Amino acid sequence: MQNTRKNEKILVINCGSSSLKYEVYAMPQRKSLGKGLVERIGSENGHIIQKNSVGKLEKTASIPDHSTAMRFVTEALTDDTYGLIHNMNEISGVGHRVVHGGEEYSSSVIIDNAVIKAIKNNSELAPLHNPPNLDGIRATMEFLPEVKQIAVFDTAFHQTLQPAAYLYGIPRELYRKYKIRRYGFHGTSHRYVAAKAMTMLKRSPENTNVISCHLGNGASVTAIENGKSIDTSMGFTPLEGLMMGTRSGDIDPSIIFYLLDRGYSTAELNTMLNKKSGLLGLSEISNDLRDVEKAALNGNINAKETLDVYAYKIRKYIGAYAANLVKVDALIFTGGIGENSVTMRHKICEYLENIGIVMDYDKNREIGSNPGIVSKNYSRTAICVIPTNEELQIAVDTYQLIYGVNFVDRRKTVEVIL
Ligand code: ADP
Repeated sequence: MQNTRKNEKILVINCGSSSLKYEVYAMPQRKSLGKGLVERIGSENGHIIQKNSVGKLEKTASIPDHSTAMRFVTEALTDDTYGLIHNMNEISGVGHRVVHGGEEYSSSVIIDNAVIKAIKNNSELAPLHNPPNLDGIRATMEFLPEVKQIAVFDTAFHQTLQPAAYLYGIPRELYRKYKIRRYGFHGTSHRYVAAKAMTMLKRSPENTNVISCHLGNGASVTAIENGKSIDTSMGFTPLEGLMMGTRSGDIDPSIIFYLLDRGYSTAELNTMLNKKSGLLGLSEISNDLRDVEKAALNGNINAKETLDVYAYKIRKYIGAYAANLVKVDALIFTGGIGENSVTMRHKICEYLENIGIVMDYDKNREIGSNPGIVSKNYSRTAICVIPTNEELQIAVDTYQLIYGVNFVDRRKTVEVIL
């Protein structure tokens, strides 16, 4: 490793339209010094909360815009009692989560004018995410003008997909004209847990194939061959693929025309498929898996069916990806559901013995919400439960880019050791 510096403080920022999440890491130790969340940006009663090992700091105030939010963040970060650092000068790099890097970015990059322009151009592809991501970048630049800022794209890890996996079977002109293709998301999480699996299984990415299931409110499955993403279930937008908390996932596109003909507007359908479908829409109970699981235990038929659909779709993707990998060394569960729901993990794996993925149901129950390996010793595929940590991956990328660690050949693959 070149130019390695000790005890550098990296600020990680994940900026949404009305919220800003942040965390400070000491690198290369990978130690979190604490984190915070600004909510209700754009309102009179904005709110900031920050926690570290000493305690928590909380404040309600008018936070009209991201620049004001960032001012509150700098005050909280350097607070005399609950601060995470003494002085903003200590921050040596800032890593930003950016949702869409389009076809331009297959790895994290240092932000310059060209990158800002590209993020802006890709706003058409991610209108709800890229603009607030840019607001966060601009606000940070205002307070830390001398500090290098890095963009870590949700889409970047999936830029290794081949045309067979990313092209839709629609007129090619739509790809040429509008860049309509599959991009995939959650890349930072899939990359992180795949790297963690290598450590857990003492394997190297170059000869390891992984299927990783990120099951949170949003959910996606990714096939990783020798450290590179070869397919992923989200597509042009995060709506494709698995059934999620409130998103439908894959449906027959004709349903949309059918409903348009019956008087639904495009806005209504957009809301229906993104916000009112999935676990929530099908169970008519909740988007939270815990509520649906509880209702199913109490005999609610809709809830039971919803759990069946949820697990079935995940199995379908695992099967499809297994068919496109010569071998599967590890199946990973991560995200709120993957990390915590013993019963959903069990349900998903029940039919996978057929393809050499054999869960040890006792181990699965015993580890509960802890990380670990939950497959039988003789299973061809190891089943791993691994908590994701996108913020840490962003801090690692930021540190590596700023201090010039040479990992050119490995940038598109999972990064195991710092
Ligand atoms: P996000 O995608 O918003 O980051 P999370 O990764 O936190 O979401 O996942 C949220 C989901 O995780 C919810 O559906 C929630 O029900 C589920 N979840 C969290 N804890 C548990 C648990 N102990 N058992 C079952 N599901 C859980």
